[in-house]
Amino acid sequence: MIDSGVPLAHYRQHKADVLLDCDNCMLSRSIPLEIVIERLNARGLDGENVGIREVARYTKGPCPRCGKRAWSTRPDFPGWPGQDGLPRDWDRRQR
Ligand SMILES: [Zn+2]
Repeated sequence: MIDSGVPLAHYRQHKADVLLDCDNCMLSRSIPLEIVIERLNARGLDGENVGIREVARYTKGPCPRCGKRAWSTRPDFPGWPGQDGLPRDWDRRQR
């Protein structure tokens, strides 16, 4: 059983986006969360309830750099990419 990850709707409260990583060449691109949900909905899926890791499975396009389809997806939290828990308004003044 593959861990599909936390449902996308959860990341709204973090104002996080979806980070798409190519496991082959390490290309990384951030896609706005609402765009990802919309695209999934447009394909007849329940976008809000698709797990963050599952998004990779629904990503059909090849990597623009290496041409492979070796995507993995993870949340892209605002502020510190790849790190959890910081809201967008947590700025330098508070550090
Ligand atoms: Zn690649």
